[in-house]
Amino acid sequence: MKKQFIILAIVIISSSLFAQNIELKRVEPANWWVGMENPNLQLLISGENISLTDVIIKSDKVELVKINKVENPNYLFLDLKINKNATAGEFEILFKKGRKTKGKYSYTLNQKTKRQRGFSSADVIYLLMPDRFANGNPENDSHKDMLEKANRENHDGRHGGDIQGVIDNLDYIKELGMTAVWLNPTIENNNKDYSYHGYGITDFYKTDARFGTNEDYKKLADELHEKEMKLIMDMIFNHCGINHWWVGDYPTKDWTNSNPDFRSNFRGSTIADPHASKSDEKQMVEGWFVTTMPDLNQNNKYLATYLIQNSIWWIEYADLDGIRMDTQPYPYKEFMAEWAKTVREEYPTITLLGETWLQKVPFTAYFQGDSPISGDYNSYLHSTTDFPLYYAIKDAFNEGEGWTSGLKKLYYILAQDFLYDDASRNVIFMDNHDLDRYYTSVGEDINKFKMGIAFLLTTRGIPMFYYGDEILTTGHEHKGHGHIRTDFPGGWASDKTNAFTKNGRTEEQNDIFDYITKLANWRQTNKAVTNGKLTHYIPENNTYIYFRHTENEAVMVILNNHNTENKTIDCERFNEILKDYKSGTEIITGNKIELNKIKIPKKSAMIIELK
Ligand code: CA
Repeated sequence: MKKQFIILAIVIISSSLFAQNIELKRVEPANWWVGMENPNLQLLISGENISLTDVIIKSDKVELVKINKVENPNYLFLDLKINKNATAGEFEILFKKGRKTKGKYSYTLNQKTKRQRGFSSADVIYLLMPDRFANGNPENDSHKDMLEKANRENHDGRHGGDIQGVIDNLDYIKELGMTAVWLNPTIENNNKDYSYHGYGITDFYKTDARFGTNEDYKKLADELHEKEMKLIMDMIFNHCGINHWWVGDYPTKDWTNSNPDFRSNFRGSTIADPHASKSDEKQMVEGWFVTTMPDLNQNNKYLATYLIQNSIWWIEYADLDGIRMDTQPYPYKEFMAEWAKTVREEYPTITLLGETWLQKVPFTAYFQGDSPISGDYNSYLHSTTDFPLYYAIKDAFNEGEGWTSGLKKLYYILAQDFLYDDASRNVIFMDNHDLDRYYTSVGEDINKFKMGIAFLLTTRGIPMFYYGDEILTTGHEHKGHGHIRTDFPGGWASDKTNAFTKNGRTEEQNDIFDYITKLANWRQTNKAVTNGKLTHYIPENNTYIYFRHTENEAVMVILNNHNTENKTIDCERFNEILKDYKSGTEIITGNKIELNKIKIPKKSAMIIELK
């Protein structure tokens, strides 16, 4: 009796399951392209008991290679192969039960567009936090479907900045001499609090409604390209947000790693350390970054494909010039290499930058593609974030002369460049969204601040500024991240001052704004600085002299780090480079410089274009 009841129940349940049509919750990626190098595509299909249906595709555009079922019946993974001669257009995916069609999806293939761009040391990057830069559309500050509403009084809350605000101020960014823009993540973060920073993704394919729409993001890319500028998208593969739509109904049990109580040890060193214990390395990679961000298991092949395709989708959809990958050392390194290799095979010119927050040069160098010191491992990354140089820049102008202190810190970091395949591919910076504001780091000393800027724009690497550097924004990281991510004054209609305009800036702010503008714009015209070799001389007497040079161009940079003494530099020492030049022009002042005894004031920088 009992058995019969169960059978009856199953019959009723299963027939009721399919009495009605199935709602397709997700088809991802929702569209794709013809003309791709890689003809393979894997679709994630999600809908209640979708795996109990038969999938039928009748089209001359694609071949349904394999239907993959997983433990959770609410998911299917379809392996498709796009036919070589397929043209753009649509095809139908049918989900059938017996003869009845229970669900259907019209899938669109667009034509892949050709592109040639990436970013390099010829660029200067402007990093901005979209919630805190400018509010171009006050209508979207809060959204009915989004848990956290705007509250500008809360340092850690949402303030209402958006993509339209960035678009509205592109001329300002361009005037400053910036050629590429990196926005902290704009993808949906529907979390109940602390959602503004964007690193807890809840939908990998959707722009957060409080920043705008996917179309707005695409518009930002188009407007940047119109101005011959570039767009770098911030992505995160290590974790997702705790409110991601798949949390609680994961496709497989192994979709995420461990549990919120098992936290990462945050020691990227374990990835390269030949003596690292397996348990330390496991904790680094499989521990959760924070308790509200489930650690993704990229060893699951469906998840790995999902993430790689997601990045390709955004490149093609939004016409990206680069990707900045968050927490590069935290996912499995083999997966990260597979990602970079696959993306570069599809887009050979795009630039992939990994956030490698590691204090020492060898660990940073390990993660750069074609590293000479990583053994069999190749990350295929074009670029890494130069944290070792950041720490040196933070200290150098605050310290006096010593065997390893002050300017020697800059010297010794750069002297280790042999550990990189090519250190000129490093992204270099004085601060970012996780660090003390540089003006605060140098004790709000305008002379030290200028020295930092002069160094950043003339040494090797890809310089990056953090929004607000140009107006002397201050902030201590230890007071809370909200303090280093303050609203740009003038970004909100109600702001009392508007630093986007000359009249809205103080005299001191204009001094720095003009300093960066002059140097960054000049830099774009000087191949010796953007692409030339770096030759430097061991710092002596609190001065550091280096050259950037090509076969027929050279720039001489002098940093006088002494707090009270003006210096006279005897050029005799630099004959190996200066012998080919007669005089020079100092870039900031426009003064003509004779190349014998050069006078440089205390605590200052001179940048001399040689003739
Ligand atoms: Ca807004």
